[in-house]
Amino acid sequence: MKPLSRPVRMHIASVGVSKFCFLLSLAFCGLLLLLIPTLQPSTRQVDLPQPRPQVRPAQTGSSHHTRYPAGSVHAGETDSTTGLKRSSAGQWGSIETDVTRKDNHSPKRGTDSKTGALPGGKRSGLSGLRTRDLLELKDIFIAVKTTKKYHKSRLGLLTQTWVSQAQEQTYIFTDGEDNELRRRTGANIINTNCSAAHTRQALCCKMSVEYDKFIESQKKWFCHVDDDNYVILPSLLRLLSSYHHSQDVYLGRPSLDHPIEAAERVKSDGSVSVKFWFATGGAGFCISRGLALKMSPWASLGNFISTAEKIRLPDDCTIGYIIEALLEVSLTHTHLFHSHLENLQKLPTDTVLDQVTLSYGGFENRRNVVSIVRGFSLAEDPTRFKTVHCLLYADTDWCPKLKARHKH
Ligand code: UDP
Ligand code: MN
Repeated sequence: MKPLSRPVRMHIASVGVSKFCFLLSLAFCGLLLLLIPTLQPSTRQVDLPQPRPQVRPAQTGSSHHTRYPAGSVHAGETDSTTGLKRSSAGQWGSIETDVTRKDNHSPKRGTDSKTGALPGGKRSGLSGLRTRDLLELKDIFIAVKTTKKYHKSRLGLLTQTWVSQAQEQTYIFTDGEDNELRRRTGANIINTNCSAAHTRQALCCKMSVEYDKFIESQKKWFCHVDDDNYVILPSLLRLLSSYHHSQDVYLGRPSLDHPIEAAERVKSDGSVSVKFWFATGGAGFCISRGLALKMSPWASLGNFISTAEKIRLPDDCTIGYIIEALLEVSLTHTHLFHSHLENLQKLPTDTVLDQVTLSYGGFENRRNVVSIVRGFSLAEDPTRFKTVHCLLYADTDWCPKLKARHKH
């Protein structure tokens, strides 16, 4: 058979193609019509509320290392231990900085006249919204750091005073067994098995256990204090109630009037300087649960110790480093927290009960305590903690029977 000439072949081919296209478009339209009802519910699903992403601490220690940002933390030979955080603030008054004047360091900060705190963090999810949290004391995890040699002297005073009002939510982190302490208080006592030495490693070991226990507790706020702090519970509750625990909140008082600078070694050679604020541990600080969960890769299950080792800074500086430098959330500076690094006598008497934490110190050279004179004499109550306690809880059985005049 003679093969078809080229134009005839082309004609047949083009008729075939257009027919095929026509049938194909018909089939496509039919398919579209069929699909319309099935597509509708899926567009509605988009409007449904989405569950909030949950950040969970990883289950194994090794998994954290994979999330560790390569080369981001390895500081140089910055002076270690307590000398660092306390040296430049050792003179009375030198650390008495007016926090309201510091708001130029972050444009987002403003002074909260009610709490005396400066709200906001760089990545606060709800920043500006000031969501009120219906907070109860039981929602706060209060970690007290102590050591065996202070169980009688320092902790005795605390269990007698503010801890007695917050036994369920107070967790005492120590380094030795003490059955008498367990008998004396209904507070939770955790033997960290960390060394009893006052070294950076031992203190970071305790902080690491504090962090893990807080995550386990499911409470909304983590607050850390030393065993020479008095916590004014109504003030603490009031302060934390003005934030939401799902926000990124890191509240405390810096001991320096400038950010700390550390040499952060990048990979094997070369180092960059990293500057960040940190809240001094001796005045106490609080962290929202939302923020604490984000700290997990650098803080949970022993990672806190390796983070602290890499920057060679004490426990409270390491907390600041994780939050400010790694997570880029700002410290909210508050002047309601107090350590014995400041001149506590300068605190106006009529504002003492509005503070969140108090402290005492300097017994050897001079007495650095808050000036509250009612109730006990200085000899009877050298720290002034009993006097403060009786002003707050006048019906305590060991309090002198005074006519209570305070406003709480
Ligand atoms: N501390 C500790 N181990 C020690 C000494 C102190 O855990 O060997 C704790 C102590 O109980 C307190 C905190 O570390 O909660 C700070 O100790 P201190 O007040 O003696 O020192 P400073 O405030 O001058 O740093
Ligand atoms: Mn102290």
